[in-house]
Amino acid sequence: MKNISIAIDGPAGAGKSTISRAVAERLEFVYIDTGAMYRAVGLAALNNGFDTKCAEQIVPMLDTTEVDIRHEESGQRVFLNGEDVTGKIRTPEVSVAASDVSAIPQVRVKLVELQRALAASRSVVMDGRDIGTYVLPNAEIKIFLTASPEERARRRFEELVQKGVKTDLESVRQDMDYRDKNDSSREFAPLRPAEDSVTFDTTGNTQEQSIDCIYDFIIKKIQGR
Ligand code: C5P
Repeated sequence: MKNISIAIDGPAGAGKSTISRAVAERLEFVYIDTGAMYRAVGLAALNNGFDTKCAEQIVPMLDTTEVDIRHEESGQRVFLNGEDVTGKIRTPEVSVAASDVSAIPQVRVKLVELQRALAASRSVVMDGRDIGTYVLPNAEIKIFLTASPEERARRRFEELVQKGVKTDLESVRQDMDYRDKNDSSREFAPLRPAEDSVTFDTTGNTQEQSIDCIYDFIIKKIQGR
C-alpha cells in the first residue's frame, strides 16, 4: 500500500499531540511530534545561555546542534547531541524558547528537512504548526485543530500539573497567548490552516470524543467515502 501522510496543525493546547498519537496508534502509522524538535533547539539555546530571539547567536549554534528522533515502544524520543531530552523539553521555559527560535528561518529549514525525511518512507501522522501548509503540502489528509483559548489554557495547565511542573493557570495562559501571537505572526511558515484542511473545534469534547471523531473522519477519507 502507498504511504499516507496525515498533517495535523493547530495552536498549543488544541489537543494535537494526544489526538495525533492515539489516531496514529489505531492506524498503525508512525506519530511524529515536530514541536519536540523546536523544543530541542530551544533547550540548546537556553543551555548555551543565548538570547532565544537572537538569530546572530542561534544560527551559528545550529552547526553543532544535532536533533534526532527515534521511535521506541514508549513512543517518540528526542535526542539533542546524543542526549535523550524527551523529558527536559516539556517545561514552560522551553515552550517559550521553542516559539522564539522557531521564528528564525534557518532553524525551520534545518528541522523541516528532518521532518520530510521522516515522512518519506512510511505512513505518518505528523503534528505541528505548518505541516499542511509547508512541510507536507501534498499530505493526503490535512486537519486543523482548535479550541477556545480558555479551554486550551486549562488543558495545558492540567497537563503540566500532572507532569509535576509548578505553575499556575494565569502564567500558562500568558505563555500560550505569547506563543499563539509569535507562531501566527512570523513571516516564514506561520501557523494557519491550509486551504485544503478541515477545521475541528474540540472545545467541550472529551479526549475520547475528539479521538473518535478525527479517527472516523480519517478512515472515511482513506476509504474514499
Ligand atoms: O507543539 P509544541 O507546543 O510542542 O511546539 C512548541 C513550539 O514549537 C510552538 O509554540 C511553535 O513555536 C514551534 N513549532 C513550530 N512549527 C511546528 C511545530 C512547533 O513553529 N511544526
